[in-house]
Amino acid sequence: MEEYQSERYSAVISERLEALRSLLGEACARAGRDPREVELLAVSKTVGPDEVRLAMAAGQRVFGENRPQELKRKLTALRDSGGLDGIRFDMIGNLQKNKINQVLGSAELIHSASSLHLAQAIAKRAEARGILARVLLEVNVSGEESKSGFSPDEVRSQIEDVISLGGIKVEGLMTMAPAHDASESRRTFSGLRDLADELRTRTGLPFGVLSCGMSDDFQIAVEEGSTLVRLGRIVFDERYRLD
Ligand SMILES: *Cc1c(COP(=O)(O)O)cnc(C)c1O
Repeated sequence: MEEYQSERYSAVISERLEALRSLLGEACARAGRDPREVELLAVSKTVGPDEVRLAMAAGQRVFGENRPQELKRKLTALRDSGGLDGIRFDMIGNLQKNKINQVLGSAELIHSASSLHLAQAIAKRAEARGILARVLLEVNVSGEESKSGFSPDEVRSQIEDVISLGGIKVEGLMTMAPAHDASESRRTFSGLRDLADELRTRTGLPFGVLSCGMSDDFQIAVEEGSTLVRLGRIVFDERYRLD
């Protein structure tokens, strides 16, 4: 980026992040939650390494990408230009089996283990490399056909199989709500939370991470128990209205 541009954009990003921290704080207050329970993941899929650096300079530490190749490209660029100390990148998008190896060892947390089949494939490759892959199970709570993920009933019937796999550690659940429908979003997020509660009771595992809430619906998500909001446009797109 040009120097003058980057200075201006840098100010935009730090203002956005600051505003988001207070909106997250307010949503937590409404729900009687501790703001430290909610992590802000900045989805950097639409911007380049320069913009990520600006967000890092503004204090942002957790980022998410939805394409394995782009994840690698950014990590390499950022490592070459000053290091990645304390910076974490997660994989949040659809994961194809032939891309799993690219993601293992790059992403700290895979949000999109969307079927038993995929969980098995991740586990197998992680075991072969002698690592433990941290994953979230993506659940299609709203039932929309366009969305991937376990159905809630599939999670209930397959959870024992998933958690018995070596090579992966299931840390929680992830979902996406229907666009532009606040009450459906709320139902989706509370459904995810209820499902996590049920699985916790059944398995004795914590299911502590609930990855839900994007630019249009993160406040609702936090009110319904999200511990990790994935925010893209509202952080990086100046045209996105923050109000
Ligand atoms: C792009 C993306 C986001 C961020 O969406 P915004 O509406 O830009 O905040 C979150 N989660 C996933 C899986 C995404 O692909």
